[in-house]
Amino acid sequence: MGADCLFCRIVAGEIPATIVKETATTLAFRDIGPKAPVHVLVIPKEHYADVATLGQGDPGLAGEVLATAAAVAEDEGLTGDGFRLMFNTGPYGGQEVFHVHAHLLGGAPLGPMLA
Ligand code: 5GP
Repeated sequence: MGADCLFCRIVAGEIPATIVKETATTLAFRDIGPKAPVHVLVIPKEHYADVATLGQGDPGLAGEVLATAAAVAEDEGLTGDGFRLMFNTGPYGGQEVFHVHAHLLGGAPLGPMLA
């Protein structure tokens, strides 16, 4: 991908973001429009459109995204009370940015998922 992908441009340092964790293969940064006191997006640096293509194309990298999300949850003090980790996928899933990203949400009770 690259020039046309917002999150590839964040990986490349072309668009600023508040980065909270970086590994060789993943990046975690704060969502620009937070929906919870803690709202961090966790992505693989390599471009995959969504979690389905990532999970089937590179399960190891998918696991690294989850490991980074878990480490950020710990850093942000979310592990005691819990948190939500979700991948919006495709139009019915409400996905707006087509570079796979996990939403890590927490810091307050979030309520039932489908209320
Ligand atoms: P989606 O609906 O694709 O699952 O979520 C995309 C998320 O990306 C949204 O929560 C939105 O607020 C966030 N977002 C969109 N543009 C930017 C940006 O330029 N920087 C950051 N940090 N987040 C963004």
